[in-house]
Amino acid sequence: MSAKIISGTEVAAQIREELKKEVDALKEKNGVVPGLVTILVGKNPASVSYVTAKQKSAHELGFYSLQDDQPEDISEEALLALVDKYNKDPKIHGILVQLPLPRHINEKKVLNAIDPDKDVDCFHPVNVGRLMIGGSEAKFLPCTPAGIQELIVRSGYETSGAEVVVVGRSNIVGKPIANIMLQKGKGANSTVTIVHTGTKDLEAHCKRADILIVAAGVPGLVKPEWIKPGACVIDVGVNRVGEKISEKTGKPVPVLKGDVDFDAAKEIAGAITPVPGGVGPMTITMLMKNTVTSAKMHAGLPA
Ligand code: NAD
Repeated sequence: MSAKIISGTEVAAQIREELKKEVDALKEKNGVVPGLVTILVGKNPASVSYVTAKQKSAHELGFYSLQDDQPEDISEEALLALVDKYNKDPKIHGILVQLPLPRHINEKKVLNAIDPDKDVDCFHPVNVGRLMIGGSEAKFLPCTPAGIQELIVRSGYETSGAEVVVVGRSNIVGKPIANIMLQKGKGANSTVTIVHTGTKDLEAHCKRADILIVAAGVPGLVKPEWIKPGACVIDVGVNRVGEKISEKTGKPVPVLKGDVDFDAAKEIAGAITPVPGGVGPMTITMLMKNTVTSAKMHAGLPA
C-alpha cells in the first residue's frame, strides 16, 4: 500500500492560520504585537531570498517586522552594536542574523551576542542547553527540528515509546531533533538512536525505526529495503541533483532530491515527507511561532 504523504506545505499553512488567530487575539486582548528583525549583511542572492521569505511571512501574520540591510564591509564591532540595539528594543522579540556572514566577521561571536530570550533561531548556547534540559526550560525549539516534530505529531504517529532513528548528527538538525524526541512529554518520549558517518551498520539501525528521520545531505542514502514496513519517514535532505526548466517561469531551476528514494520508499513506509514540500516549508513557520512565543514571554503571558 502506498504511504500517506505528509505535506509540509499543508501543515505549515495550517500552523500559520493558527498563528494568525493567536496574533490577532494578542493584539486585541493584550496590545502585544510580535516584533521580528532580520539582519542581512551584504547581498548574497540566496540570503536575500531567505530573508525576503521570512519578512513576507512575518508581514502576513501581522507582526511588527523590520528588515535591516547592512553593507558587506560592516565591521564586526558595528554589527555587534546593532545586535545590542535590538536586544534593548522592547518592540523586537525575535532577532535573526542571516547566515553566512562575511569572512571578516566572527559568526559565533555575533550569534552569541543575541539575547537568548530573543534568539528565535535557537542557535545560542544558552538555548541549546535549555533544550537539553527540556521541559519549561526550553523557551524555543530550533526551527527545522521543531518543524520535524510537528510533522510527526500531526501525521498521527505515536511518539511515546517509539524507536526513533536519526541519521545525521549536525548541530542544526540531527542533535537537536534527537534531543527533542527523547524528552519526557507530549510528542516525544521516544527511544532515540543517532547514526552518523562513524556508525558500523547503518542499515540495521534504520530497519528498527518506527520513525526514521534522515538528515545526511546524501541523495538516496537510505535504501527502501532499510525502511520498516509502516514506518514514518521524515526526509530532511535537500540535494541539488541537476537542473530543469520551470513550467511556470521558463527559467532553469534546480532539481531537488531527498536522502531517501521517495518513489520506492513510499511503497513500504506508512507515511513519508516529499522533497521538496516536506520539511522545507516548516522552518520559516516555526520561526514565526518562536517569535509569537517570545512576544508572549516578554509580555509576561503564558507561552
Ligand atoms: P551536515 O552536513 O551538517 O550534517 C550531515 C550529517 O549526516 C553529519 O552528521 C554526518 O555524520 C551524517 N552523514 C553524512 N553522510 C553520511 C553517511 N553516508 N552515513 C551516515 N551518516 C552520514 O548537514 P545538515 O545541516 O544537518 O543538513 C542535512 C540535510 O538536511 C542537507 O541536505 C540539508 O540541505 C538539509 N536541511 C534541510 C533543511 C530544511 O528543509 N529546512 C534545514 C536544514 C538542513
